[in-house]
Amino acid sequence: MEKKVTKIAVLTSGGDAPGMNAAIRAVVRTGNYYGMEVYGSMRGYQGLIDDDIFRMENRSVANIIQRGGTILKTARCKEFYEPEGRKKAYDTLKKRGINGLVIIGGDGSFRGAGKFSQEFDIPCIGLAGTIDKDIAGTDFTIGFDTAVNTAVEAIDKIRDTADAHDRLFIIEVMGRDAGYIALHSGIATGAEHILIPERKTDIDHVIDSLLEKEKRKKLVNMIVVAEGDGFGGAEEVARHVKQKLPNADTRVCVLGHIQRGGSPSCLDRLIASRMGYHAVECLMEGRYNVFVGIQNNKMHYIPLQNAVKAKGKISDEWMKIVKILAS
Ligand code: ADP
Repeated sequence: MEKKVTKIAVLTSGGDAPGMNAAIRAVVRTGNYYGMEVYGSMRGYQGLIDDDIFRMENRSVANIIQRGGTILKTARCKEFYEPEGRKKAYDTLKKRGINGLVIIGGDGSFRGAGKFSQEFDIPCIGLAGTIDKDIAGTDFTIGFDTAVNTAVEAIDKIRDTADAHDRLFIIEVMGRDAGYIALHSGIATGAEHILIPERKTDIDHVIDSLLEKEKRKKLVNMIVVAEGDGFGGAEEVARHVKQKLPNADTRVCVLGHIQRGGSPSCLDRLIASRMGYHAVECLMEGRYNVFVGIQNNKMHYIPLQNAVKAKGKISDEWMKIVKILAS
């Protein structure tokens, strides 16, 4: 019979995302509610390896639901890729009697947890925390909604100045493998073109459409580019546009890390609270070594071993909407 989970540790790993604190809070409070001892590991897997772990009571997570970043810090941990590193992490947990782990992170963190849970008898539960929304099996990830709203706010401001000067702005948003931030923020701000890694960028088509707009004196144009777009990001797009359209008053703006920070949106706080609660429920019910996703407003539990980046899921309909609305 499986042993009851009585002591759990929670950690945040990989890229940070707004809402991670709300998820930590939910895990700590749900764990304490069910009479578990809850611990926090600093800097993701590194804290397990270095035994940088501390007890978390309900009061330890007071006043953090509204804060961006993560009170547990996050890190990329090279040692955890190696079996020796994972053994060290296991030894720390064993020594402390911790027999359950909640990992808030992206697909990389889940792959690490998948290996760990295969090698050792510590059940692991993942919570999808990534601004890129690039994990297959969940409609939501903690941090995406806040990041996309930050991008929308910034692009709206850029539109004001673009409008004042009749400028063409090429705006780069985050998204190395997934174009969701670009797609959502681009549609919500009325961008003329949205360039994403999921679609091959036809730069000649972009130029032709800008030329056509120039002819009918539509001079304020915004192109939103995901950083991972195959053509090469905003600078590369701008270089090409300037060559072909020397008369256009072209500017580049790379939004960068502001998209990772800030107070989480209501939606991200809700998702984080719901997922955190269900992570502990999974440990209670013996539903081990899964990550918690939401599909069609229902909880879904996907084996950690199956954690993969979501690719190419952007529908043709969205692209058609972009085209029609930008004319
Ligand atoms: P994210 O979780 O945001 O995708 P990373 O891919 O950097 O970020 O993963 C975070 C951490 O998870 C890594 O620094 C490493 O410690 C661990 N990790 C990622 N992939 C693996 C793997 N294949 N095997 C073991 N550990 C991994």
